[in-house]
Amino acid sequence: MERTLVLLKPCTVQRALIGEIISIFEKKGLHIVGLKMMQLTDEILSEHYAHLSEKPFFQRVKDSMMACPVVAMCLEGVGAIEAVRTLAGPTNGRLAPAGTIRGDYSMSYQENIVHASDGPETAKAELKRFFTDSELFEWKPNNLLSTYANDEF
Ligand code: ADP
Repeated sequence: MERTLVLLKPCTVQRALIGEIISIFEKKGLHIVGLKMMQLTDEILSEHYAHLSEKPFFQRVKDSMMACPVVAMCLEGVGAIEAVRTLAGPTNGRLAPAGTIRGDYSMSYQENIVHASDGPETAKAELKRFFTDSELFEWKPNNLLSTYANDEF
């Protein structure tokens, strides 16, 4: 099974959508192996969004991510990284297809509800950035045979 990082952004916390968005991931069949609220800093965001450092909106994106605490989650499942990116949808909420989280809950390029790791290397680095080892739990749901075929997990 694979693990991936999801951040419920300040826009999600402010709009009281935490439970609703977590529920989407749970209903999909992903299970939560780490969950906490945290106030992000300019330092952690500069690292997390280093690939945007040359963009004119870099500081604005970081400020938006510091507007209030975020909820950080580690989700686990078969092919979890791609499954979560598919659920999240493309970056711009206005263009994201209906049925995706961004498509259903966002009208913005920036205020787009969730962050989701975009590949195995990124997921590994991001989980290390946001969670300590003791904050991540080893457990498996007892209904895996209802979630997957027996050769899928
Ligand atoms: P994603 O979150 O879909 O992986 P990126 O890593 O490219 O996208 O960007 C990180 C975050 O920066 C986005 O989720 C969004 O909040 C913000 N962002 C990216 N591009 C833009 C843009 N052109 N205008 C405003 N905000 C942007």
